[in-house]
Amino acid sequence: MTTKHLDGRIALVTGASRGIGYQIAKALAAEGAHVVAVARTVGGLEELDDEIKAAGGKPATLVPLDLADMAAIDRLGGAIDQRWGKLDVLVANAGILGVLSPIGHIEAKVFEKTMTVNVTATWRLIRSVDPLLRRSDAGRAAVMSSGAAHSAKAYWGLYAATKAACEALVRSWANETMNTPLRVNSVNPGATRTAMRAQAMPGEDPKTLPTSKEVAAKIVPLLFPAVTETGMLFDVRENRFKRYQDPA
Ligand code: NDP
Repeated sequence: MTTKHLDGRIALVTGASRGIGYQIAKALAAEGAHVVAVARTVGGLEELDDEIKAAGGKPATLVPLDLADMAAIDRLGGAIDQRWGKLDVLVANAGILGVLSPIGHIEAKVFEKTMTVNVTATWRLIRSVDPLLRRSDAGRAAVMSSGAAHSAKAYWGLYAATKAACEALVRSWANETMNTPLRVNSVNPGATRTAMRAQAMPGEDPKTLPTSKEVAAKIVPLLFPAVTETGMLFDVRENRFKRYQDPA
């Protein structure tokens, strides 16, 4: 029998209704975790639960929730606290592209919505579950970033700003938790065959890209208790942690 790395552990995954988050949730369940799956689309969450159970995993806890609803994020932390008293794994994966546009042409409401879902909700989620992760003997968090955070590509400014903001939060969080068992890192999944990528690059042949399942398989080991790295950026394509440059 193969060893399961996350037996008896509680894992919260946002954006679990499709794409990379769906496959991470499935792979975490295959490692023995009880998955708490968050997204707006109930059908996608139910499909995930069916697949987890069909593969012999523990039934997931499904949480249909809009991450723009900050009070709901607070309630989620409270509910996990009441039921389990701790959280072992956080995968803050949900995100939206917003719009690819010259900075000067971005509509205010699109800008605000993208910042809300990608940044404010990520901070709110971290705030909501940080005390629970600290109660785990091996709390692990992965926050989904993007190469866009560092690429400075024309028209990607809004999305890039949200991902750079998330990376900054994670780096500070890592320094705040350095002397605890909690390990927190950002992840750059690289171009992946998902709905978001198709929205960003409609002319691209999706078959040239790695699948969400392949990408998830590289991300899930970052959440195992044996991981020691913290405050770093894991590059899925290169399959390695990258250290941030020291400031000049
Ligand atoms: P998808 O668009 O396929 O999936 C996004 C997920 O986020 C869905 O489950 C969606 O669920 C959820 N989500 C979006 N908005 C909300 C909301 N308001 N409330 C709750 N959940 C929400 O994206 P990917 O799988 O491609 O991306 C996953 C992560 O990886 C994102 O953070 C993305 O920025 C990042 N990334 C992706 C790359 C790629 O090439 N695919 C490259 C680099 C980074 P629902 O709609 O049901 O709410």
